[in-house]
Amino acid sequence: MGRVYNFSAGPAVLPEEVLKEAAEEMLDYKGTGMSVMEMSHRSKAYDTIIKDAEKDLRELLNIPDNYKVIFVQGGANLVFAEVPMNLMKNGKAAYIVTGQWAKKAAAEAEKYGEVVRVASSADKTFSYIPDCSDLDIPEDADYVYICENNTIYGTKFWTLPNTKGKILVSDQSSCFLSEPVDVTKYGVIYAGVQKNVGPAGVQVIIVREDLIADGPAFKQTPTMCDWKVQADNESLYNTPPCYGIYICGKVFKWIKKMGGLEGMKAHNEKKAKILYDFLDGSKLFKGTVEKKDRSIMNVPFVTGNEELDKKFVAEAKAAGFENLKGHRTVGGMRASIYNAMPIEGVEKLVEFMKKFEAENS
Ligand SMILES: *Cc1c(COP(=O)(O)O)cnc(C)c1O
Repeated sequence: MGRVYNFSAGPAVLPEEVLKEAAEEMLDYKGTGMSVMEMSHRSKAYDTIIKDAEKDLRELLNIPDNYKVIFVQGGANLVFAEVPMNLMKNGKAAYIVTGQWAKKAAAEAEKYGEVVRVASSADKTFSYIPDCSDLDIPEDADYVYICENNTIYGTKFWTLPNTKGKILVSDQSSCFLSEPVDVTKYGVIYAGVQKNVGPAGVQVIIVREDLIADGPAFKQTPTMCDWKVQADNESLYNTPPCYGIYICGKVFKWIKKMGGLEGMKAHNEKKAKILYDFLDGSKLFKGTVEKKDRSIMNVPFVTGNEELDKKFVAEAKAAGFENLKGHRTVGGMRASIYNAMPIEGVEKLVEFMKKFEAENS
């Protein structure tokens, strides 16, 4: 069996332990004689799976009781629309544009109301996080929106914006469960799970109860996109992405075993340091973002020579390091080093980069 080191930005590497367990349970889940894929979402066995998943997630993130957790389908791209549909009660929202995903979220929200782009880092190809300590947030804005970790550009909000009292909505898709988070600082946290926690198809939405108590902002909101309906039905309004939630549940347990979010943070910082330290000392490779804003999940880098970048990606692939090509909109390379990437994967990558540097300079 040949497993590669998979640096994909998403869908991405999952813990081997979790995959093995799922394989063992594939044909007969705990004596039920069937796979979780074949099981009614109303069955007793599945009820335990989804309830445990929520319980473990609440424990990991220390989610207060006045926050609802829902598991829904549709991709983060659908959540871009669900945010205004559920929250834009005054018809206005402030967006901080730090990359493609925030840009798309703002454009989607604009279909539902007024979007005020209060800050942006587009002037320098999204290579930094703008100062958000004193932004001009409209008095009547329903919320302030950020993409907390910018998967494509490799930047991260290490300080949350000053929202001037408005609720904060955060897309945490690519940093979800990578470190401890104070949930009370947010109105909504959401994440597509295929970056850090599970297979594509599941979105986790954590929303403060009072924000959805009166239902969505628009009566035309599709029932499936109505967070109150989803919350009231404990994510079982219709058939949820059952198998995906089951895998997420296993990953939550794996994270608990790894020392919870404190453990994850230490593990992730260690990996990022190995890679960034090498980049900072290298004569060939360079990181592309401002040091203070560096993500510890997605690490973009370049050689400064497109041909050499291509050669690197090809030779890395041949050596068992997969998916190091940068996003199609930015080029260069990007190593995504999510929770499930072992330290050894990053150490071996750096070894390989050193060898490449010696051979090509
Ligand atoms: C991948 C990603 C998305 C888009 O996710 P889909 O599930 O493909 O819609 C949105 N936001 C962030 C931060 C991402 O990393």
